[in-house]
Amino acid sequence: MNAPYPWLAAHWQRLAASRARGTLGHAYLIAGPEGLGKQAFAEAFARYVLCEAEEGRTAACGDCRSCRLYASASHPDLKRVTITEDHPTIRIDQVRELVDFFALKPHYQRRRIAIVHPADVMNRNAANALLKILEEPPPSALLILVCHRAGLLPPTVVSRCQRVNVTPPAWDERLAWLAEQRARQPTLPDFATLTLQGAPLTLLARLEAGEGTLLTELIPAMHAAGARNHDQLATARQFGGGDVQHFLDAFESVIQAMIQLCAGHAPGHLRLPEPAHSALAETAASLGPRRLFAILDEVARARGVVLRSSGVRGNEVIENLWFAWVDALRTRTTA
Ligand SMILES: [Zn+2]
Repeated sequence: MNAPYPWLAAHWQRLAASRARGTLGHAYLIAGPEGLGKQAFAEAFARYVLCEAEEGRTAACGDCRSCRLYASASHPDLKRVTITEDHPTIRIDQVRELVDFFALKPHYQRRRIAIVHPADVMNRNAANALLKILEEPPPSALLILVCHRAGLLPPTVVSRCQRVNVTPPAWDERLAWLAEQRARQPTLPDFATLTLQGAPLTLLARLEAGEGTLLTELIPAMHAAGARNHDQLATARQFGGGDVQHFLDAFESVIQAMIQLCAGHAPGHLRLPEPAHSALAETAASLGPRRLFAILDEVARARGVVLRSSGVRGNEVIENLWFAWVDALRTRTTA
């Protein structure tokens, strides 16, 4: 196994080259948005550094004593520090255990490795204790910190780590990867109208949860909402029964796609087969960008309502937004 995901390949090559030259650092910070496989990367990297196979390999061999210990989850030179439901932050006693762990000589290879995930939920005492390790790392220590929000880590910790900044792949790459997953798992729903906004692993999880269908229903419903005899209340209630965040995400993607269509671009983040493409293009042209941007403002307001008030009813937010949409369509036809 090389990089666990194709969008991580460049980072992998850089680290593999450091390993080959014998210039690996003592601490790495793997940071970036959720859903990009950072933890899988940290695991694969640790396994690769521990592998005892001959020089020149760009990935763990999977077959040596070290790789077999890794596979049986009993490698004595690898330690994982993480959180639990009862203890949602990394605590100082966990970091003290790390100090003890690094104080021992490696059993097999030259390195002892610790993976700390998620490193951004560390309290000040834990961070200070970790800083001590980072300031004077034992020669064999390799510390891998993984987190979604590096900004929450003390700058003194960040500055002592080599950064691996993971960013989402381009839309085409996400699409190609999702197509590969679908080829392997034929039970996944078709993502013909799946919005490609979001990290690939998040998109895959949404497909696996059968969520590819929201946009498939939303696009024709948004198009049909302009008809006078359309039962708006029934439609609003139908969407109101779903998850409010998913609805806002999907609705916003469709509006953004329409704005791009107004500007003469094909919306890259949305896979739009016919007749969805024509339906959207027609509605977009009849509304124009000014009205569409006003709807985007409504979406932002709705997100604000959901964020600010804990007792907010998602169905009311969805229904209000739906009627704002119907209004925009009606003022269009009477203007
Ligand atoms: Zn190996």
